[in-house]
Amino acid sequence: MSKANDPSLKSWIEVELNSDFPIQNLPFGIFKTQSSSPRVGVAIGDQVLDLAILNKLGYLDDLKIDNAIFTNQFLNDFIALGKQTTNAVRERISHLLNSNTADLRDNKEARAKVLQYISNVQMQMPVRVGDYTDFYSSIDHATNVGTMFRDPNNALLPNWKHLPVGYHGRASSITISGTNFHRPKGQTKPSETEPPVYGPCKLLDFELETAFIIGKGTQLGESISTENADDHIFGMVLFNDWSARDIQTWEYVPLGPFLAKNFASTVSPWVVSLEALEPFRVPGYKQDPKVLPYLEYTGEKNIDITLDVFIQPENAEETIVSHSNYKFMYWTMEQQLAHHTVNGCNMNVGDMLASGTISGPTPDSFGSMLEITWRGTKPVKMSDGTERKFINDNDSVIIRGYCKKDGLRIGFGESRAKALPAL
Ligand code: MN
Repeated sequence: MSKANDPSLKSWIEVELNSDFPIQNLPFGIFKTQSSSPRVGVAIGDQVLDLAILNKLGYLDDLKIDNAIFTNQFLNDFIALGKQTTNAVRERISHLLNSNTADLRDNKEARAKVLQYISNVQMQMPVRVGDYTDFYSSIDHATNVGTMFRDPNNALLPNWKHLPVGYHGRASSITISGTNFHRPKGQTKPSETEPPVYGPCKLLDFELETAFIIGKGTQLGESISTENADDHIFGMVLFNDWSARDIQTWEYVPLGPFLAKNFASTVSPWVVSLEALEPFRVPGYKQDPKVLPYLEYTGEKNIDITLDVFIQPENAEETIVSHSNYKFMYWTMEQQLAHHTVNGCNMNVGDMLASGTISGPTPDSFGSMLEITWRGTKPVKMSDGTERKFINDNDSVIIRGYCKKDGLRIGFGESRAKALPAL
């Protein structure tokens, strides 16, 4: 395990106890300010460390990284340097921010140049997403949806326990937290006997997901084994796969989701490296029936990440509507990647592979309004007294996530977006 993960490490930068960004995390992101162009930063407490300036001042000199890598509007080129380099950068930053390291701590002038408050910067999309895939890998979610729409006795389709089901989504409409969007319009079918109608979607929903970012590409024809998968995963973000349930129900047969999903997805800005998440690995789901050999894996490959979803109506307080966990996933990221590439499908740095809605076994841990309100039959109460079956105009949905173990807590920040009225 990386030295940078040591729970006893302390930074000379003051970090609040419940902060998402202690020295053991050091996630990467892209930020800009009113006076500076986009650049690579690392979050520490409530501040961001400017890697472009840090490198220019010589603090990363022996790593020999061209500064253009850091004065960049995306992390792709940085990630493409490979884990050996990106991990070395994380280790170096851990060293520089350590309370026992004087170099930067005691250089007031340099400190003022490389650190800013996150509240004063604007976070950008962390990566240029070439391709985006969404899986369907939570057994409780798939069981809930199968129970509602098909048959409670055969909720899972025959393939579900044999392969991680997925589809190719739309990369262009993945946006950074804080990007609001308009309620989508489209075709829906009011009832079995009536013809379809056109108009604003009535059943707008969120999907609680995470996504992992490809850190090492492959050539067409190559496959990634479950054993090598972690070499190809740079890190993770929170992911809200906004969904229009009424559009989805009418359009999805036979080729799967299309306009019900591709109008907006919201990611959190900080990419938490797989290395920072290693201490929080837990055993995966017991998979029965046994999977085919190319999907077998060894070791603890699930991750204990607490995931909370909040709805915030306009001018009201947030209300928590889901308290779930990434550990409820049936299929691991390593299996998803092995399956995705088993046919020779190539991966590119920056590609995003999302988990699919993450529901836990109990109703308070369901990852979509569809399940939480059971198709709208059990509305949930908001802090302002109003009720929700699905997402109303001007509601914000916020996803937050963090790992906690032995007094150490590292988090993801948040994915937040507001659903504006249809145009
Ligand atoms: Mn989804």
